[in-house]
Amino acid sequence: MNAFNYFMPTRMVYGQGVVREAGKDLALGRKALIVTGKSSARLSGALDDVLAVLPGEYVIFDQVENNPSVETVEAGGRLAREEGCDYVIAIGGGSPLDAAKVMAVLAVNDLPVLELYTTQWEKRALPIVAIPTTAGTGSEVTQYAVLTLEEEETKKGLRGPDLFPHTAYLDPKYTESLPLHVTVDTAVDALSHLVESYLSNRATRASDFVALQGIALWGTAIPALRQGSLTLENRDALLLASSLGGIAIAQTGTALVHALGYSLTYYDGFPHGRANGICMKAYLEYTKSVAPERVETVLELLGLESVAAFGELMDELFKDYAGKLQLSPEKIEHYVSKAMLTNNVKNSLGSPSAEELTKILSDSII
Ligand code: NAP
Ligand code: ZN
Repeated sequence: MNAFNYFMPTRMVYGQGVVREAGKDLALGRKALIVTGKSSARLSGALDDVLAVLPGEYVIFDQVENNPSVETVEAGGRLAREEGCDYVIAIGGGSPLDAAKVMAVLAVNDLPVLELYTTQWEKRALPIVAIPTTAGTGSEVTQYAVLTLEEEETKKGLRGPDLFPHTAYLDPKYTESLPLHVTVDTAVDALSHLVESYLSNRATRASDFVALQGIALWGTAIPALRQGSLTLENRDALLLASSLGGIAIAQTGTALVHALGYSLTYYDGFPHGRANGICMKAYLEYTKSVAPERVETVLELLGLESVAAFGELMDELFKDYAGKLQLSPEKIEHYVSKAMLTNNVKNSLGSPSAEELTKILSDSII
């Protein structure tokens, strides 16, 4: 019997209309820093819902870009301090959610952002309310925040127990305004979390339980994703699967797919979920050689016959990207050497070598 440790302190409130129903309970303090991207909080209807019921004061920071930068989180942290905010409401995809987490730390800790990667900050981050508008990252239930670090030419996650949001309000309606390509990219991100967690050296019985439920739920949306037309029921399945993915990686971390994907986003501009999707077929092929029964279980739950069928699904979902990835041998070597510096590769079943990673990335070129 393997021992395990399971920690997930976020209160999840799930269902249609949950933000308005929360009413004054939405507030965790006197004055909120509301953190959003440029338009999604409004487009999704989430910001209107928040403002309709939020008691007390607030100030809005609506400048979070995709793959948020150090400068953005510094600006938000400064605003929170100047305005005397005592809690944070994050609305949006993973970018605003992650940025808001770091702002919540900086609001009470006067530290350079890079130090957050190496030292545990002293004062507990401001409490966070997270309202996702994508079904992908699961950031609303994780202790991670991913920023783009220009100094290191990569994206990198930082972590802390106080980065778990206090409460997550999940309403699948908010994902209805997503363009199809973002729906697909983010869905594949959620799938990669679930699968990487299940295929992790750090997997536990608790994380497996969550990941397997999530993979099966994700599988129910495959026909709709193929057709490019999603009902609210499909969006509900994807949002819950995405949160289950977050809960799973909160226990295990992600694996080599994310380690390689970060370079595909940083250097080649692929959205996060697509960057992961590029490597997944070759990753499953590799993992099949070290843990065939686990890969078989993933495929079965998805209703796919083989790794090749999984690859066909990815090709179909991402047909618009066909031929858009050019990787020279030098680039592949560079991405692999960066990935080898991360724990994500060590977390992957089989703990692949640089040579094995090179094969995975070379086989992933689309
Ligand atoms: P995102 O970067 O937050 O958003 C992508 C695009 O979708 C943006 O243009 C955004 O618009 C738009 N959008 C979001 N919700 C929308 C809606 N309901 N309707 C219309 N447009 C909408 O995408 P994401 O994939 O959710 O997040 C990716 C980030 O999360 C990456 O930085 C990734 O590394 C990180 N991540 C974090 C974790 C974690 O555990 N913390 C896990 C995985 C990934 P706006 O610009 O207007 O917002
Ligand atoms: Zn991810």
